[in-house]
Amino acid sequence: MGYLELRGLRKSFGGQPALAGLDLVLERGELVSLLGPSGCGKTTALRIVAGFETADEGVVRVDGRDLTGVPANKRDMGMVFQSYSLFPNLTAAQNIAFGLRLRKVRDRAGRTGELLDLVGLGHLGKRYPHQLSGGQQQRVALARALAVQPRVLLLDEPLSALDAKVRVNLREEIRRIQTELGMTTLFVTHDQEEALAVSDRVGVLSQGRLEQLDTPAVVYRQPASAFVAQFVGVTNAVLGTAEEGGVRLGAYRLTTAAADGLAAGAAVKVLVRPEDIGIAQHSGQDNGALVGNVLTQSFLGAVTRLSVRLDGGDQVVRVDQPSSRAVDFPPGTTVALDPSPGRLMVVEV
Ligand code: ATP
Repeated sequence: MGYLELRGLRKSFGGQPALAGLDLVLERGELVSLLGPSGCGKTTALRIVAGFETADEGVVRVDGRDLTGVPANKRDMGMVFQSYSLFPNLTAAQNIAFGLRLRKVRDRAGRTGELLDLVGLGHLGKRYPHQLSGGQQQRVALARALAVQPRVLLLDEPLSALDAKVRVNLREEIRRIQTELGMTTLFVTHDQEEALAVSDRVGVLSQGRLEQLDTPAVVYRQPASAFVAQFVGVTNAVLGTAEEGGVRLGAYRLTTAAADGLAAGAAVKVLVRPEDIGIAQHSGQDNGALVGNVLTQSFLGAVTRLSVRLDGGDQVVRVDQPSSRAVDFPPGTTVALDPSPGRLMVVEV
């Protein structure tokens, strides 16, 4: 039995399903992300867990206890939203102490000080929200959510309003604090890198259902569906037709077991990640490799990304090389591409 259980959750708005039977079980102390595109039902799921929304069907349990009918303020959950939602007329310390006062916790000043230290704001307790940066305000919001020692922490896109560098710092901090406290946490995000970086497991949601629930590495390396593959990672989708033992892409043929089971002649998409494609200067000999022309070469920091137009059509394939070992292929270079056969996914279109 898990610690936080979502069982068969269904919810429609005006006849449109937002959740279509969501099952998700978190172990105690686990951080699970709900990842998916806008409108897939992530926030609805979180709001049902928090008690702000009622499910049409299904139950939420914490530690075996059914929360149906339990109001939000009796659920023992801490929540952090995208908007910082601090009380503007209270200092950081007073914001954190607010929940402690409601619960009549003793030694509120001591506890508030500990929480400020926990989120790295020990010296800023006297500041008002407008005197704090966005990232600092979100740290206060996190401390306030943790102050009441919730059984479950719910994070709804807590980093989305922050700029890139602050976002990365704060997500590492959230992960550190969550691990330190052993806090069972449900984290909603549409940012795949964020989900992969902070989670024990990632649940990829599409149209109100879980497409996959796995560790970040498995979601990335073994996507359970074309949707997951395309949502997680910049994935190339090259159109072709299935053949015995492989796929035909225009004039080229890829030999791969990934097309096994598909009828010969079926229209397919070959999904392959940019980093799973080898690239070399084309020798001029036809050895069956995919040949194309470099359109652009972009330095992205850790990787250098090339876009290559395949000969005989207008399909463009992106190829990443680690920048530290990148070979220079200026635009116009004719190159041979070698997608790693074990890393392909072939789906019917
Ligand atoms: P986003 O990342 O854009 O917030 P999401 O995955 O969190 O998206 P939800 O907010 O859960 O998605 O919404 C799922 C669907 O339910 C959407 O189509 C949305 O328009 C609809 N929806 C959510 N809340 C309501 C509401 N209170 N009234 C009507 N429709 C709603």
